Amino acid sequence: LRYRGPFDELGPGGDVDHRVIPWNDVSLEEGTGIVHIATGAGQEDFELGRVHDLPVLSPVDEAGRFYDSYGWLHGLSTTEAADQIVGRLAEQGSLIHAGLHLHRYPHCWRCDTPLIWRVTDDWLIAVEELRQPLLDANATIEWTPAYMGKRMDDWLRNMGDWNISRRRYYGLPLPFYPCECGHLNVIGSRAELEERAFAGLDQLEELRRPWIDSVPIRCAACNRPVERVVEVGDVWLDAGIVPFSTLGWQNPKYLDEGYATGAAKGLTTADLPDHATWEEWFPADWVSEMREQIRLWFYSQLFMSVVLTGRAPFRKVLGYEKMLDESGREMHSSWGNTIDAPDAFARMGADVMRWQYCAQPPDRNLLFGFGPAHEIQRKLLTFWNSVTFLVQYGNVEAFTPRYADLERPEPGEDPLDRWLVQRTRLLVAEATDGYERWLSVDAIRAFEGYLDDLSNWYIRCSRRRFWDGDEQALRVLWHSLVQALRVVAPMLPFLAEHLWQVLVRDACDGPPESVFLAGWPTLDEPDAETLSAMGDARRIVDLGRVARSTSGVKLRQPLGRLVIEGASPDAELLRLVRDELRVKETALGHVEADLRVKPNLPVLGPKLGKALGDVRTALAAGEFEELGDGRFRAAGHELGPDEVLVERSGRDGWAIASAEGVTVALATELDDELRLEGRVYELIHSVNSLRKETGLALTDRIRLSIPAGDADLLEHADWIKAETLAETLAAEGGDAPTLMKA
Ligand SMILES: [Zn+2]
Ligand SMILES: [Zn+2]
Repeated sequence: LRYRGPFDELGPGGDVDHRVIPWNDVSLEEGTGIVHIATGAGQEDFELGRVHDLPVLSPVDEAGRFYDSYGWLHGLSTTEAADQIVGRLAEQGSLIHAGLHLHRYPHCWRCDTPLIWRVTDDWLIAVEELRQPLLDANATIEWTPAYMGKRMDDWLRNMGDWNISRRRYYGLPLPFYPCECGHLNVIGSRAELEERAFAGLDQLEELRRPWIDSVPIRCAACNRPVERVVEVGDVWLDAGIVPFSTLGWQNPKYLDEGYATGAAKGLTTADLPDHATWEEWFPADWVSEMREQIRLWFYSQLFMSVVLTGRAPFRKVLGYEKMLDESGREMHSSWGNTIDAPDAFARMGADVMRWQYCAQPPDRNLLFGFGPAHEIQRKLLTFWNSVTFLVQYGNVEAFTPRYADLERPEPGEDPLDRWLVQRTRLLVAEATDGYERWLSVDAIRAFEGYLDDLSNWYIRCSRRRFWDGDEQALRVLWHSLVQALRVVAPMLPFLAEHLWQVLVRDACDGPPESVFLAGWPTLDEPDAETLSAMGDARRIVDLGRVARSTSGVKLRQPLGRLVIEGASPDAELLRLVRDELRVKETALGHVEADLRVKPNLPVLGPKLGKALGDVRTALAAGEFEELGDGRFRAAGHELGPDEVLVERSGRDGWAIASAEGVTVALATELDDELRLEGRVYELIHSVNSLRKETGLALTDRIRLSIPAGDADLLEHADWIKAETLAETLAAEGGDAPTLMKA
């Protein structure tokens, strides 16, 4: 079946044989059952045209306007042409009906302009031959996280030919010069261009448009003048040659400020290296970018590198996932949830931003925002307060740190000092290991754990010694804080450098001027035994605090006795435990406790079925046997640790707590002496709070007066005076203690 078109006199359409062809997707529900196929103006039309060998007509240019071969339509855009076409159809009597029809239509996401579909020719690089070499090169790369390397493999296995041409003005000009004789001239270098050009070289500022388009060459086959194609290259061509263009590949001479040419003049003073530099630095040790670069930058670099050298351009890659807002949504300026960098610098601080990035596991999306930043500020404040603590007490004692203590600390006999030196070694080891595996998240976690131990354990337990001006404690704390600075300096450079200036440069004799000139801390193996013994001591103290708080005994009230089961700290650590928990004596031994065991129904129900009832009854009646390691036997069934819920409660007069195989029992009964001491501690605490409120310096001495009703506390007058720096102490009335600077 043949037909005649309404405007066959226009353009190349007149030469076309108009045929009617079958198509499965024509609908009988709507219209005539015949649709018009425009092979140059729609995806389905184009594909159908290929099946039936129809000619492809593209009536509009890149701007969407009709070519001049289309007569009266020339220069009109497709939307502008619509009315005129309707008018012409009416004039020539071919119009049956004109009206509006609602349907979906694509628009530009950015400027909302209606889009049209247009067929063009493009330049592509055939990839089939390169597929295996690219896969082989990728196999030599160490990817973190590993799944991103597999993504690259998938991409390489499935990639199609690379469409490298773009119809933009600015970009890498494609060096293709087709000739009407059929020969395609390709220029391979600036030197070759200069050799074959016959005009325009004097105006060639850069190898870019517009200058490059005024440099015609002669065809190598027939000597006719030929011009460059108008297309420029895909930007990933430029990006892909970074390992070559920046390192002076095939550049015979090293050029000082060699990059300061063309548009870069005045903007850079970068040198253009020579080929020897490239030899030295290629391939790169490490590259980092987001996951999307697998099909973009990582791919284009790998592609170029394999083509030019047969090798991968980098040895290791750290890829990472996306950055979203703190509630997990994409950031869009139109949604109002983007955060400007200057705003973030001002409100959260550059180091806090860096912490957010560094603390992010690379295989998960980063939820960035002021909420998480606030959490980080809180953690950094702990560090800051620890430094302030050292500085305050150091100033009181006119303490001068020795730079040599950094690498060779001499902790003396105190168990906390000896432990902190080992704990600091552990920090250095853990953080180094994190950095070595490109996982700054592990270095941050190591630092967070360290901060907790330093602040909530070492400093907390050592306050007394700093109060007493113990120089050994000052030295060890200085050593530890400064080693920690060196470890976090790559992630928190501003804070680390500032504190280095304060703690090291202004304080020691002849140290490096900057933390970044101080090198990396020596890696000494931490002593595992010291660490685990102190770990037990801390666990006991934590449990003791839990027991104390569940029993309702006041925090500062001294208690008589603590029994420990499941850990055996040595005498020194037991003394530490007693001080921290404020108990008179400790004992290692069995903790008498009432045990209540209940079935964990969601687990045991499915396992035991009908037998559950018997087990439940037996457990409730206390008819069970303890098998150790958290296992029990009841009604003939053995029950695992996850199958039961265990509650231990102390016998009368005892508070107990239990975790990770350690159980402690705290005697909660008080005698008169303990009560009196409890009141002394309360008094000391309130006087020292008062000292702070009054603005007294740490070393100021005072005269102290306490209520007459507290006269019985004078039994401990020396103790009270020592703890509050009181020169005189009297019980002279009033409702609350009062003090005056002495
Ligand atoms: Zn647009
Ligand atoms: Zn030619």
